Amino acid sequence: MAEKKLAILGGEPKKNMTRADVPAELLRWPIITEEDEAAALEVIRNNKFSGTDITQQFEKEFAEWLGTDYAICYTNGTMSLSAAMFARGLSEGDEIICPTKTYWGSVSQAINFGASAVFCNITDMLSMDPDDLERCISPRTKAIMVVHYIGYPCDMDRIMAIAKKHNLKVIEDVSHAQGGLYKGKRLGTFGDVAAMSLMSEKAFAAGELGILVTNERKIYERAMAFGHYERNNERYIQECDDLKDYFHIALGGCKGRANQVSSAIARVQLKYFDERCAEVRKATNYMWDLLEGLPGIKPIRVDEKTGSNMGGCYCAACAYYPEQLHGLTVRQFCDAVNAELGARWVMHGINFCLHTHQFFKTFDLYKRGVPSRIAYNDRDVRELDDACKPSEEKYCFTIPWFKKYDKEWIEKFAEVFKTVVENHEQLLETAKEDKRSAQGGQWYGKENQE
Ligand SMILES: *Cc1c(COP(=O)(O)O)cnc(C)c1O
Repeated sequence: MAEKKLAILGGEPKKNMTRADVPAELLRWPIITEEDEAAALEVIRNNKFSGTDITQQFEKEFAEWLGTDYAICYTNGTMSLSAAMFARGLSEGDEIICPTKTYWGSVSQAINFGASAVFCNITDMLSMDPDDLERCISPRTKAIMVVHYIGYPCDMDRIMAIAKKHNLKVIEDVSHAQGGLYKGKRLGTFGDVAAMSLMSEKAFAAGELGILVTNERKIYERAMAFGHYERNNERYIQECDDLKDYFHIALGGCKGRANQVSSAIARVQLKYFDERCAEVRKATNYMWDLLEGLPGIKPIRVDEKTGSNMGGCYCAACAYYPEQLHGLTVRQFCDAVNAELGARWVMHGINFCLHTHQFFKTFDLYKRGVPSRIAYNDRDVRELDDACKPSEEKYCFTIPWFKKYDKEWIEKFAEVFKTVVENHEQLLETAKEDKRSAQGGQWYGKENQE
């Protein structure tokens, strides 16, 4: 073991590891070329922002790529997930199960349908825990929102079997996992419907954009009617007779049409997406090979020999086990790594668990004098939230999101994690006085909290 005084305790940090030092291509995303620029310019010059011709081309290409019969775009991922909920018939008094650790936009929309979010625990890999799923099911359960969180494919064999047994609908949120596979099959093709963000910070990055995919014509039509007033007519809605009286207005009450600058960029991005993701996976898997086996940390990755993969490795992260490092919290560990690097490269926690947010406890959107989450339910599903305590204790931290297989730089980063693990005992004395919580994570717009 290499003894080294850690930088956080006054030792020398590793040199030249700030953002300015690292080659820009190592991290730059999305990769924008003149082809993307030309596509965007064409929309602007032709004033085609609000048309749907380019969007419909992208929808066709995306569906072909993914292997679904239908795809339909929206302003963003949150809206596409709302459309999926409407299309699946989520309504008053229904329950929808969602893993507690995810971005709020996976399930917050349930409030608009008078439905209740019920939270399921996650595994060490931050993925919906199939062992906890049946606990969450009641006669009111309508759907399961499966989130392939940070690109890790959920255990779809078990989840689909449970859904089938209880006659539940499955919606997949693929916002982190575009291009990913589970046992050789593309994520987003397991549920009755899938929806996802294609926002500029996601693995599939095209500005502000969302897309819904399905093989069921009726779901497609309902999703269209929900947010697309100008496509809510006899030309597009052919099977849903019950919608015929409601043509020409967006049935969700909100417009969901995509901006075609994003659609145009998305078309170009799609052409190169698989090959770029393959490079990201090669780089990230190399980092994981270097870190594999260190005490206290475990890369969140899949064995690609099973036919599964993590798409564009969005938000690449390690699980963290404090008990293997003398109780050092993940937060203290990340502080030490960042000090060693001389810049804030790693983050602990990712998203906070949703069941801990007041939105799901007291918020009364419709001023009915009851929290909207349970306003139409005959049971108070908030009482189930305590069972999600274990998820608050699934610790993790992110690593830099490598886009290029640049061995030298990846090795430099890996070395720092090793240094901190191997010398972590130096930190234990000061760690005892640290009163900050261990979990961390973030609500967007607020820095990591105390
Ligand atoms: C980003 C994200 C969304 C919402 O997508 P937007 O395009 O930001 O509206 C939904 N679910 C997950 C898991 C996300 O990360």
